[in-house]
Amino acid sequence: MKRALFPGSFDPITLGHQDIILRGIKLFDEIVVAVGINAEKKYMFSLEERIEFIKKSFEDEPKVKVVSYEGLTVDFCKKVGAQFILRGLRNPADFEFEKAIAHTNRKLSEIETVFLLTSSRTSYISSSIVRDVIRNKGNYSVLVPDSVKMH
Ligand code: ADP
Repeated sequence: MKRALFPGSFDPITLGHQDIILRGIKLFDEIVVAVGINAEKKYMFSLEERIEFIKKSFEDEPKVKVVSYEGLTVDFCKKVGAQFILRGLRNPADFEFEKAIAHTNRKLSEIETVFLLTSSRTSYISSSIVRDVIRNKGNYSVLVPDSVKMH
């Protein structure tokens, strides 16, 4: 069984993340969306909300599981039996950042990182811009799945 971990903050999930997951489904038997817990980060949405938004948008997709995790991503991959890490690439900045992480993860384990180039229609979307639109009461709904609702 080919299982890929798709790790991230998902604060909140965007149409860009959704696109990567939907395309990942065609490559892997199971995608484990792993929502990170990082004590240093200040999130807009609680862990429960971030998980719920993702679960709701993939409730009809049995190949997608949603869990939370902390610690090293490669350790968590071993724990859940994922042989691959799935990541999306939007631009050269993403590439440089992801390259260092993927090399490090490869040094620490056998786990391969698989990159998907973002679709052109969602490549400009980031959770941080979505948060900014939300804070300023803009129409964030065109950037996120329907499951992302304000409290
Ligand atoms: P992190 O804090 O780990 O960067 P994110 O939730 O921001 O977590 O992103 C998780 C993954 O989703 C990363 O691989 C990131 O490159 C990818 N991603 C983020 N936004 C998009 C987008 N618009 N299109 C495709 N992939 C994206």
